[in-house]
Amino acid sequence: MKEKLLGKTLEELKEAATACGLKSFVGKQLAEWLYAKRVSSWDSMTNIGKAAKGMLQEKYELGTSPACGKAESNDGTVKYLFEAGEGRYVEAVVIPDDDRRTLCVSSQAGCRMGCKFCMTGRQGWHGNLDTAQILNQFLSVDEPESLTGTVFMGMGEPLDNYDNVSRAIRILTADWGFGWSPKRITVSTIGVLPVLRRYLEEEHCHLAVSLHDPFPEERAGIMPSQKAWSITETIRLIRKYDFSGQRRVSFEYTMFSGFNDDSLHADALIRLLKGLECRVNLIRFHKIPDFPYESSSADVMEAFRKRLNDNGILCTIRSSRGEDILAACGMLAGKHSS
Ligand code: SF4
Repeated sequence: MKEKLLGKTLEELKEAATACGLKSFVGKQLAEWLYAKRVSSWDSMTNIGKAAKGMLQEKYELGTSPACGKAESNDGTVKYLFEAGEGRYVEAVVIPDDDRRTLCVSSQAGCRMGCKFCMTGRQGWHGNLDTAQILNQFLSVDEPESLTGTVFMGMGEPLDNYDNVSRAIRILTADWGFGWSPKRITVSTIGVLPVLRRYLEEEHCHLAVSLHDPFPEERAGIMPSQKAWSITETIRLIRKYDFSGQRRVSFEYTMFSGFNDDSLHADALIRLLKGLECRVNLIRFHKIPDFPYESSSADVMEAFRKRLNDNGILCTIRSSRGEDILAACGMLAGKHSS
């Protein structure tokens, strides 16, 4: 199998060029085409000569692959399906919002965290995406150059594939790479504690934590990972870092009717987050088979939001996007492969 060029750093691309007997500046040209101009084919790389391309192609492949499926929602949200090898599929979703276009990107095929309310969790884990497979989602959607930001909130737990996710972030934020500010990137996690500590030390991107329930035992019932990495410990760790400046932390709270949506839960959440510079996003639940709860009603969500806001916790109800194409987190490629 040929090595992929996508996912290599500038230094590594230069080495790849010299390994083919080419000048190292060809590596710089490759970085410009792949990362700055976001092209996904050899043909588009017009300043690299035919002979040089031939030499590179003997040893390397670009590592880009087109989407194998696409569905467009009435609200403009577009979901793309990508093959991840060995019969595995992952999805990426582009969410337009005024002048922004955010890519919701997958980091693993399936997921081993087993959250009970999530279709991806139901599939189990089928492998990590390599850096090229992560970045390919940025290159192979329509108009890749107009993406304004990304959330690692698609299939998989990004901190369970940290080497590839952090390498992708490095390429996204490097001057020779996509040149994005870390402010354009959010990593969403259930709170894989030892890796979260590394992420908070090493990266400057935003953090989103899947909280969903303030009571540890109850949370463990819907999120088995709670037993290994408790939400109390996660928040204790987060409190050690500064979120008052460029970097922000938010908490995702999916609302299940009659389970986690009453004033008892709101008050426990307020106590848990008191004094922390953060935002809580309330999320309407997309019903899935064999999970007993439905989404809370709009009125209940509004009352919950108000209680948090009245107690000094910034809280918003996230608008639901792409429902008609199953674009919500956890409803992704499961539809295709399960
Ligand atoms: Fe994995 Fe996220 Fe689904 Fe939990 S919600 S199973 S962490 S993809």
